[in-house]
Parts: sequence; structure tokens; C-alpha cells
Amino acid sequence: MREARVARHLGLPHRVATLSVHTSPLDQPGAGDAGGMNVYILETAKRLAESGVEVEIFTRATSSDQPRIVEVADGVCVRNVIAGPFEGLSKQDLPAQLCAFAAAVQRAEAQQEPGWYDLIHSHYWLSGQVGWLARDRWAVPLVHTAHTLAKAKNAQLAEGDTPEPYARVIGEEQVVAEADRLIANTTDEAHQLIDWYGADPAKVTVIPPGVDLETFRPVPQGFSSSAEVSVPERGEQVRTARERARARLGLHRQDLVLLFVGRLQPLKAPDVLIRAAARIVQDHPELGDRLRVVIVGAPSGTGLAAPDSLQLLAAELGVAERVRFLPPAPRAELAELYRAADLTVVPSYNESFGLVAMESQACGTPVVAAAVGGLPTAVLDGRTGVLVDTHRTQDWADALAALLAQPHHRDELGHAAYLHAQDFSWRRTADRLLGAYRDALAEFARLDATGSMG
Ligand code: UDP
Repeated sequence: MREARVARHLGLPHRVATLSVHTSPLDQPGAGDAGGMNVYILETAKRLAESGVEVEIFTRATSSDQPRIVEVADGVCVRNVIAGPFEGLSKQDLPAQLCAFAAAVQRAEAQQEPGWYDLIHSHYWLSGQVGWLARDRWAVPLVHTAHTLAKAKNAQLAEGDTPEPYARVIGEEQVVAEADRLIANTTDEAHQLIDWYGADPAKVTVIPPGVDLETFRPVPQGFSSSAEVSVPERGEQVRTARERARARLGLHRQDLVLLFVGRLQPLKAPDVLIRAAARIVQDHPELGDRLRVVIVGAPSGTGLAAPDSLQLLAAELGVAERVRFLPPAPRAELAELYRAADLTVVPSYNESFGLVAMESQACGTPVVAAAVGGLPTAVLDGRTGVLVDTHRTQDWADALAALLAQPHHRDELGHAAYLHAQDFSWRRTADRLLGAYRDALAEFARLDATGSMG
């Protein structure tokens, strides 16, 4: 392939082994362990391949039906590696399967021509452990993205949430020490890697994630208001993309819609939204009458222990009929949900970046987010949304009610949000990753030549 020759000529890798031990990029995000990392890996892999860098993604097989290799796009495949039982293993069980996973990766490489992979990119610390071994065996650089860090998570735990075990901290420290290059989503994460994990600052590159600007846009491709039909049972004529999205979801034009999208677990704090909605109903009846909350996602992590807890909370607070729960949605449907919403709400206790916040903004819907982790990078306070410093119900109710009461201000924020999101394409993320790969290869070759390679 011509692009591959060009890539090599530019000092780029020809083929990358991408490691994603605990979750497959082919899983539907929004449930279990599948979330932003899955989206990140798939979206960047497709763009890297467009630039002539082939990507083979190794993940743990979770069903006997899965083909061993799945071609995802030109130059991108997923290798489903058998390491431990297909079902019944939680993320916490996976450290015991890392040896099996690493062995399978080594065998897959051994079946290829020598030098098949010229760079490894591991995602999350479990993959970093495997990548570290492969790096030494194949003598190629290891690039690592943590996605989340145990120390950051433990510093901002949701009430009742279990701290990440110390074994993970040690595992992360080892990967930080062994990787040739560390990719951080934000400068905040770069500081955590350097200050809390002792990373060499020269090895850390900040590369923000992106958003699929083709899918997440204020008006869907091909939308034409004149071609849209009315909604006869309501006597409404659909004129805008938002109205169409609402009509499809059974929401009314005058509804005030608050949207939450993500894996349902205490860390993501969907309960904060439900509590705030109940407070708005109580304190602002003029808004409360029109208030609708839509929660999209399924239980995950510690949220699996009490899968009905949010429904019970809504019932307990007397807002059950205002809160609708939807199962994890594919990308195109999600875009309709963002377009239908007045505000997207991201109350997480920690978020390494917050793809949901960026997707919503790309659709022109402002975001009210917690001022934690990468969210202050994703959401510009007062310009594309509002950041809330605490997780207190009253603070969230106040912030949301203020915006719900000001439709013109919401429109201004939404417009600025759309413009802000245009700076975060996956193409740009992939281009910056290519730069990091090139640097990692050059540095590795230099160390190899001087005999100082670790
Ligand atoms: N997501 C999805 N469908 C859903 C819920 C979530 O595709 O029903 C996707 C969402 O669009 C986003 C990702 O899952 O791309 C979540 O990423 P984020 O960074 O917000 O959170 P994370 O899962 O990494 O904690």
C-alpha cells in the first residue's frame, strides 16, 4: 500500500500493535467496561490507517463465537486473544490472566515475518504490563496511554465507592517507568503522571482526544426542514433538527430536557442529576412542570451491585415520571439525543477527559459539568457551558435552573460549544499521535545506537 511506504519514509511506524486487554473496541460503549477508551482506540486506529499506519488491536476474547481476527476497516483489525475463560471474569480478575494474554500476543507475533510490529501502543495499565514485556522481546518502543489513573480516581471517590487497590498503583508506576512515551489526555493528567507517578517530563506528550464531527453535528447530514413531516398526533410541524430529534424521542417542543450519557456507576454521579432535578421541581415549579431527564447507559463497575438504584432514587424523590432511562445507544442515535437536549449534564467525580461533553458540544448543546479532571479542558466555563465546583444538590440545581430559565443564553453557549468542538477532531488527535510515534521511534533508535536502551 502506497500510504505505508510514505509512512515509513516519514519515520512513522509501518504497523502498530495496539493493546486493549480488558475491553474490546468493538463492544457497545456505555455499559460494563466499555466507554471512552473503546471509542478512542477505534477512532484513532481508523485515522492512523488512513495515514498509512496499520493497526492491529489485541483484546481478550469474551465469547467462543468471536472470530480470532476481525477486519474493522482498511488497515485496522481486532485480534481476539484467548486468555482465560470467555465469560465471568471481571476487570479485577484480569491481572491473573496477563501472563496468558502476553503469551498469546507473543505467539501471534512469532507467526509473522520478523519485525512485523514496529511500535506498541498500550491502553490502560493492564495493557501496559503486557506492552512492557513485548517491548523488550521485540525491541520496539512502547507508547502508553493510561486513560485513568488509580491515584487520581482515589483522590476523588464518590460516596461509598471502593478505592482502587494498591496493586494497581504499583502496576501503573511500573508501566510509567518502562514506557518510552506517555500520552496524557490533558495537562492535568500530565502533571499527575509527573508529580504522582514520577514520570520523566520529557517522555510525556499531551494529546487531547477528539470527536467524530461527521456524526456529532447540530444538524444531521441530509436534514431538510421542508422535507420533514409533521407529527400529526401532536399537531406539531417539525422545522428544526432539535424538533425532529424530540419528536422521534417522544419529547415535546416545550420540554426542558436534561441529558446524561455514560456508564452508570457512582463515579459518574448520575444520582447528582436526579437529585438536582427533584430540587428544581420543588424550588422552581415554572421550570419543573416542563422538566424531563433522560439517562442513557447501563450499569458498570461498582454500579453493577445496585442496578436499580437510580430508578429507586427517582421514585423516592417523586420524579420517576420525569426521568426516562434508555439503554446504551449507538453513535447516530446518541447524536439525536444530544440534539434533542437543552443541556447535557456531566456530574462525574473524576473524568480523564469526558468524550460525552465534547460530543454534546459538537451537536451544539451546552454542557454543565463538574470541574474535575479533563472536564475544564473539554468545557469552557461560562462560554460553552458551566462548570460546577462541588457535588452538592443545591449547587447543581442552581446552575441548571439558571440556564433552563435563559433560552437565549443557552443558544449562545450552544453556538460557542459547537465552535469549540471543531478544534477536537479525531484527525487532529491521530496526527498528533503520529508525531508522538515518530519521536518514540527516533528516540528508541538513538538509545539503541548508543547501547543505552533500557
Ligand atoms: N457511549 C455510547 N453510547 C452510550 C453511552 C456512551 O456510545 O449509550 C459513548 C459516548 O458516546 C462516549 C463514551 O461512550 O464516546 C464515553 O466516554 P467518556 O469519555 O465520556 O467516559 P468514559 O467511558 O471514558 O468514562
